[in-house]
Amino acid sequence: MEFDHLFTEQLDALKDEGNYRIFADLERRCGAFPRAKNHGSGEEVTVWCSNDYLGMGQNETVLAAMKHTLETCGAGAGGTRNISGTNHHHTLLEAELADLHGKEAALIFTSGYVSNWAALSTLGGRLPNAVILSDALNHASMIEGIRHSRADKRIWAHNDVEDLDRKLSELPEDATKIVAFESVYSMDGDIAPMEEICDVAEKHGAMTYLDEVHAVGLYGPRGGGVAEERGLMDRITLIEGTLGKAFGVMGGYITGSAPLVDFVRSFASGFIFTTALPPAVAAGATASIRHLKQSREERAQQARNVAEVRRRLDAIGIPHLPNPSHIIPVMVKDPVKCRMLSDILMEDWGIYVQPINYPTVPKGTERLRITPSPLHTAADIDHLVNALHSLWSQCALARAVA
Ligand SMILES: *Cc1c(COP(=O)(O)O)cnc(C)c1O
Repeated sequence: MEFDHLFTEQLDALKDEGNYRIFADLERRCGAFPRAKNHGSGEEVTVWCSNDYLGMGQNETVLAAMKHTLETCGAGAGGTRNISGTNHHHTLLEAELADLHGKEAALIFTSGYVSNWAALSTLGGRLPNAVILSDALNHASMIEGIRHSRADKRIWAHNDVEDLDRKLSELPEDATKIVAFESVYSMDGDIAPMEEICDVAEKHGAMTYLDEVHAVGLYGPRGGGVAEERGLMDRITLIEGTLGKAFGVMGGYITGSAPLVDFVRSFASGFIFTTALPPAVAAGATASIRHLKQSREERAQQARNVAEVRRRLDAIGIPHLPNPSHIIPVMVKDPVKCRMLSDILMEDWGIYVQPINYPTVPKGTERLRITPSPLHTAADIDHLVNALHSLWSQCALARAVA
């Protein structure tokens, strides 16, 4: 029997649309962040699109904690959390996370994706007359969790508090309303009007479910996210985050009241029926969170580098979306040119920025998503800006009017 044509037909369609994904085969060089070896070309490249936003994946304290725990506890957790897999390092990490967000309790998952999927499907599936009000630009993991919950849902216009208010007013009194949204949206880098969302949710007696994946470690005096920065943590019912982006390791989590977290712990299939995170991973994440709770240096230097890259792009008229976050979307607005720019940057300039095309972003808004870290040097920034300056002319792309 020959089945491969079933697969290749759809893959060919994807390729024809220009939406087929090609991975860069990288080998990160510990201690040389943001450098990596590109196994495609054999050359060293500077990575400008990592979600290891602060380089914590190579932080000495994090590595020491991981090495030590690997030596003392071994490789895997050895089971699900319920059946022999709960290691003391998980308990410590959950306490650290609850403290980070000013909540009673926290629960860790194998990834941020799984935490959103498991928590939303459990809340939506089990709470009486649940209705989930989901921001139109919510991440795939939230959408899948909501879908799997089979709860009633309403999509409100992105960051549009009036639309949210209107949609909440239309719901029956006895509905259990859950407003699900993000703080920093990863593709446009815009930030939710969180205080207004809390006001509207409270007015209608709705819970708030906040994904702070692109903000934890980065915003707030202790890296507790945008809710911490704006003094709103106690007004959010559930805060979800990742250990894989600014914290530089891997895993996801939720935090909230003790009964809420116990509820998800007790009913979420995606939490119960899977092997716990390796203890060394948990210990590394704890070290990373602790470090970023007391050190503001990484966040400050990142902010300086982000401002510098923006200023330099403005000076040469390279169009980028204005936003208040650390994400710089350089707008190319053409899928073929976007991929071509990325290829030339890699081959001729040793710069790696992955092209972001449909369906990750709408057609016509294709972009290079640049994420400056505190470890990019002034020379790295010069090199990036020179490369874009040259390529913009070479590829006949429009410049922003100053
Ligand atoms: C990356 C991402 C996730 C998933 O987190 P992982 O730890 O990478 O699985 C969840 N929400 C948003 C908004 C994300 O961008």
